[in-house]
Amino acid sequence: EKYVFFFGEGKAEGDAKMKELLGGKGANLAEMTNLGIPVPPGFTVSTEVCAAYYENNRKYPAGLEEEVLATLAKLEKVMGKKLGDPDDPLLVSVRSGASVSMPGMMDTILNLGINDKAVQGLANKTGNPRFAWDAYRRFIQMYGDVVMEVPHHEFEEALSAMKKAKKVELDTGLNEKDLEKLVDEYKKIVKKFAKKDFPQKPVDQLWGAVNAVFGSWMNERAIKYRQLNEIRNIKGTAVNIQSMVFGNFGEDSGTGVCFSRDPSTGKNEFYGEYLMNAQGEDVVAGIRTPEKIATLAKKNKKVYDQLVGFKNSLEKHFRDMQDMEFTVQQGKLFILQTRNGKRAGAAAVKIAVDMVAEKLIDKNTAILRVSPDHLDQLLHPMIDPKALKTNKSLTKGLNASPGAASGRIVFSAADAEEWNIRNEKVLLVRKETSPEDIGGMVVSQGILTSTGGMTSHAAVVARGMGTPCVAGAKGVSVSGKKVTIGGKLFKEGDWITVDGSTGEVYSGQLPLVVPKISKDMSTFLAWCDEIRNTSKRDGVSGFEVRTNADQPDDVQRAFDFGADGVGLCRTEHMFFEKEKLIHFRAMIVADTEAERKAALKKILPLQKKDFFGIFKAMGGKPVTIRLLDPPLHEFVPHTKAEVAELAKHLKVAPKDLQPKIDRLHEANPMLGHRGCRLAVTYPEIYNMQVEAIALAAVDCVKKKIPVNPEIMIPIVCDEKELAMLRPNAEAAIKQVLDKAKVKIDFKIGTMIEVPRAALLAEKIAEYADFFSFGTNDLTQMTFAFSRDDVATFLPTYLEKNILDVDPFKSIDEEGVGQLIQWATAKGREVRKGLKVGICGEHGGDPATIDFCYRAGLSYVSCSPFRVPLARLAGAQAVI
Ligand code: ADP
Ligand code: MG
Ligand code: MG
Repeated sequence: EKYVFFFGEGKAEGDAKMKELLGGKGANLAEMTNLGIPVPPGFTVSTEVCAAYYENNRKYPAGLEEEVLATLAKLEKVMGKKLGDPDDPLLVSVRSGASVSMPGMMDTILNLGINDKAVQGLANKTGNPRFAWDAYRRFIQMYGDVVMEVPHHEFEEALSAMKKAKKVELDTGLNEKDLEKLVDEYKKIVKKFAKKDFPQKPVDQLWGAVNAVFGSWMNERAIKYRQLNEIRNIKGTAVNIQSMVFGNFGEDSGTGVCFSRDPSTGKNEFYGEYLMNAQGEDVVAGIRTPEKIATLAKKNKKVYDQLVGFKNSLEKHFRDMQDMEFTVQQGKLFILQTRNGKRAGAAAVKIAVDMVAEKLIDKNTAILRVSPDHLDQLLHPMIDPKALKTNKSLTKGLNASPGAASGRIVFSAADAEEWNIRNEKVLLVRKETSPEDIGGMVVSQGILTSTGGMTSHAAVVARGMGTPCVAGAKGVSVSGKKVTIGGKLFKEGDWITVDGSTGEVYSGQLPLVVPKISKDMSTFLAWCDEIRNTSKRDGVSGFEVRTNADQPDDVQRAFDFGADGVGLCRTEHMFFEKEKLIHFRAMIVADTEAERKAALKKILPLQKKDFFGIFKAMGGKPVTIRLLDPPLHEFVPHTKAEVAELAKHLKVAPKDLQPKIDRLHEANPMLGHRGCRLAVTYPEIYNMQVEAIALAAVDCVKKKIPVNPEIMIPIVCDEKELAMLRPNAEAAIKQVLDKAKVKIDFKIGTMIEVPRAALLAEKIAEYADFFSFGTNDLTQMTFAFSRDDVATFLPTYLEKNILDVDPFKSIDEEGVGQLIQWATAKGREVRKGLKVGICGEHGGDPATIDFCYRAGLSYVSCSPFRVPLARLAGAQAVI
């Protein structure tokens, strides 16, 4: 078996397609060599060696050592120098590089092969003793830190002391004698901390470095990085051993990093930084300020033009924006690395669109190049990047709901509402939120909580409303009407700014910028729509993106963001407004049908008005309205004041009202008297709602506004529920339409959110024109995980790998997914081409969207702000 792959002299044993085996860095070094780009020769030890090394208790496979030494001999022959040669030493770098780029996570060692004798040879041969001693001191510093585990600040302190003694600011100010002395000190430091001498034998140095690079695959930060970025199933890192070129040779030498296009804006402009007389990481280390790449044209026109030539040909060759490392040694240019560059959201879209226009890539490739996260970045208000330069964040919590917001601190929902009436912009700061805070949350610019996770009430509700939220910020502690944030005290009315995309919290009112859908973005999203709309799976054509929205302005926003319809309009959310809430409360505490009907009568016109607004905003696209599904406990009056208010409204004594409220108490409200169960006991509730919907639709038709209403019945567990409720709804519709003498096509469907309903889909489909999977409840009931309590144990489940992902975030394909597939198939056996969608929070999750496409669903539905992202994820699922 071959483990080692040579590259040099215009020919390589590997190429760009061999990323898995050679790592990204090694594969591209090989590819560049084959392209005739000047790359210092070297060889790559494959990722399979890394895998074998760990499988075998950190031992190398048989034959590896010989193969490495033989290839080293070949390299020495090509270079005409030998590792450690006292007269003319070959120096190499030992570089890590996995198939997926993990920038800075693993180790690299430069200038290997130098020792006490070779440093003299290098000095004589090059006639540049300062450079030789600089190389040696850099090598001891890096090798000492990475391989011998000497604390790196020890070296840094010695270097600073030397600079101070010599009264110079930069290490370039030190001369050969200083560096020689520094080498001596460095060796002492090594001896003191590693308890052994710095290795002088080049082969020992080499294996020490190779071991360290393979070892760095399993260092803590590399493991963490792979976890965070969900990098799984890759073999390990490769090791690249490459002859050194020296940017630290003098003022005619240098090193830099550059991008073929601007990675933050995507503009087709050469972008980068470099430093003269510097090596490797000096550019990113931030000790000296690097110069802009354009100034290189003035310093060395020949090298600059050559670099531009290489970046052009590399970009053309890889058909993507390139991120490159280069080094100039005495006026000669070398490329040390190239890879597809990481980019900000705006840049991703612009580069994708531009490259299609330049005929470098096709539309499908462009669509795959932009990630849903890229788009997400672009759609929320953000803090003006200029302001971030001068403002430090106070603390950081969970980035629970994206976007930035500024407001004046209030500590209760009631205060938020009161300040809002006075037109004050408020930011709700609480330990945590609960359902009764909804009213205050709606009017807040943003929300900050000190406890709770990504699925806490504050986080879920804020995401649904598109309100920026930082949750679970441990550096925040609320007491009374005061809060300390990262140690700084704030009181009610003080301004703060939160960034829900990063989790950062800032003092004061920072300027925000509101992104628009750019021309590039709308071009790009139109390509996505084309792919989705023309897609075909057996019996289902197209793959729609709808929105979950309850208010006309949310619906309008979703429409502007390109939604194909409303997939879920939650009618109980309409009662969060004070004026409606009182009637709603009156309705739920009603004793008799007559009382209930009286309260419903008050609600009807209010609902009708909302529905009208929603139909109008959707302009004839389908609107699915879910009939009432209130977990009642969210609505019963809690405080004395609320009870008193309701009592007054009902003209009864509070003490007579209280028992009725108490009767509504349920031990398990989520499994209690909710959804269609409410209508089975009190049919008049749904009848009123259907009447309001029908009246709103009639109003639209009369005003020549096209409508496409769909009525959805929640929490069904048996077809007999629908068999009873559907005719009621049909009768209510007919009555309204007959009276108005208009014809409107209504669809009546159901939510599938109870596992039993999924299992009985075949029977349920007899009474349903469509299905919509309510995956929040379906997940909750399939796992028997209470969504409101999951935060206490889910993190441990994830940590202990019982679950891979939070099932409330990304659909559980194995379990819940099976119910979805079953119900879809069974439903379509009864009704060919049955429209089936998803309307849980999962509908905006890219992995879930991909699943929904594979499962044959007709549409996904998500919150308005996620609509563009879902249009992209949907297209990616089709491709
Ligand atoms: P990372 O993955 O952290 O970027 P690299 O292996 O790319 O690590 O190397 C770190 C730095 O050292 C880079 O700036 C690179 O250009 C430089 N470097 C690596 N090998 C050589 C070499 N053979 N000659 C000169 N500089 C090198
Ligand atoms: Mg690199
Ligand atoms: Mg539900």
